[in-house]
Amino acid sequence: MHPDTYVKSETGHISVGGVLLRDLALRFGTPLYVIDYETVVDRMRQYGQALQGWGTPYYAGKAFCCRAMVELVKQEGLGLDVVSGGELVTALSAGMDPARILFHGNVKTREEIRLGLTAGVGHFVIDSLDELRRINDMAGESEGAAVVLLRLTPGIEAHTHEFIRTGHFDSKFGFAMAEGIATQALEQALALKNIRVEGFHAHIGSQILDDEPFLANAEALMQFSHDCWERLSYWPSIIDLGGGIGVRYSGQDNPPQPGELMNRLAGLVGEWTPPGQTRPRIIMEPGRSIVAEAGFTLYRVEALKKTPGGRTYVSVDGGMGDNIRPALYDASYTCDVDGKAARTPSYAVTVAGRYCESGDILVRDAYVQDPAVDDLLIVWDTGAYGYSMASTYNRVPRPAVVAVHEGQAQVWIEREDWQDVLRLDRPLEKQRDLTI
Ligand SMILES: *Cc1c(COP(=O)(O)O)cnc(C)c1O
Repeated sequence: MHPDTYVKSETGHISVGGVLLRDLALRFGTPLYVIDYETVVDRMRQYGQALQGWGTPYYAGKAFCCRAMVELVKQEGLGLDVVSGGELVTALSAGMDPARILFHGNVKTREEIRLGLTAGVGHFVIDSLDELRRINDMAGESEGAAVVLLRLTPGIEAHTHEFIRTGHFDSKFGFAMAEGIATQALEQALALKNIRVEGFHAHIGSQILDDEPFLANAEALMQFSHDCWERLSYWPSIIDLGGGIGVRYSGQDNPPQPGELMNRLAGLVGEWTPPGQTRPRIIMEPGRSIVAEAGFTLYRVEALKKTPGGRTYVSVDGGMGDNIRPALYDASYTCDVDGKAARTPSYAVTVAGRYCESGDILVRDAYVQDPAVDDLLIVWDTGAYGYSMASTYNRVPRPAVVAVHEGQAQVWIEREDWQDVLRLDRPLEKQRDLTI
């Protein structure tokens, strides 16, 4: 709902990380992404402690990835999931130990695989037979085996938005634990000279608010492992249970506690381990639950409008370009008006973005405090899948990301300016000068 260091003054001014949001907006401009350092570090440590003795949390970089964030991942001793060459070079530029990087994604181009092999990433997570063969061939060229996990789909329907569900059988991800598909993939992988299979992975979706789907996922993976042991004498040394742990976007959300959940998962993995075999090390891949509640967005109110239907639109200087989640997933957020937060939020408004799409609505039917032009509007819990999904639609430059900590603010990602808008453009050439 709020970062841990959230403080509201009697006058209704809000500060986070010991910094007044009003001052941040004045100094860095709006729209502005703000990350509360303490909240991020706290969530990382919660996972570290929850998995102590069982395994390692790997932060899922796609939730929010930049150099400073990876440095924090490194500092706190987590591993890192990457899903692209871009995330991988970010990780390497931040000095992340490649052995603690896991390379995900249902498409890894040759160029990306080469980058991963050259850097020496710890694990590739294999998503298809074509990829398996490709990595085997490329690892052969560069001498030495690629260490992999196989991505499996357990056939679990997590109760979350269709677009963020990944565990069901007709998902584009992974090998189905049905019709022998996953078993055959394992057999093929075990037969390849330059592939070493360390274990299995399954990620069932995102923003999951109860323990049950996670337990069902672990159970399915362990059942599968058990079958592999009986039939192929193969036993995994790693079980990667993915991410997907939900966060509190509203007061009604009651997400799992990492400590409790990990205990139950680790217990289950232990129970399924055959006598004489080593209990597999557990990897969890939290993304959203590390960074969502630490982050929020500051917008400037630019216009108010009442429609004949009686709706009040509050239009702000950002929107789907910096946060596409409401348009993409129907995601909902809470918001506040800074400087008025001491008052009752009794005004029903719809917060509209500045982009040329009717679907560019940031918060639908929100209750806020008496908004006026030039007020600062705060949208909470935008730390995950906000900036990382940002675009330059309408040629609007992307906002800055600033971290706050103990009264100080530090830029993590610079704001784009008009120069950046034009940076990659080239003038139209005369036809006769074209060379292809
Ligand atoms: C997206 C993703 C995650 C992170 O999911 P969150 O919901 O952000 O915790 C972890 N693992 C895989 C494979 C993913 O695709």
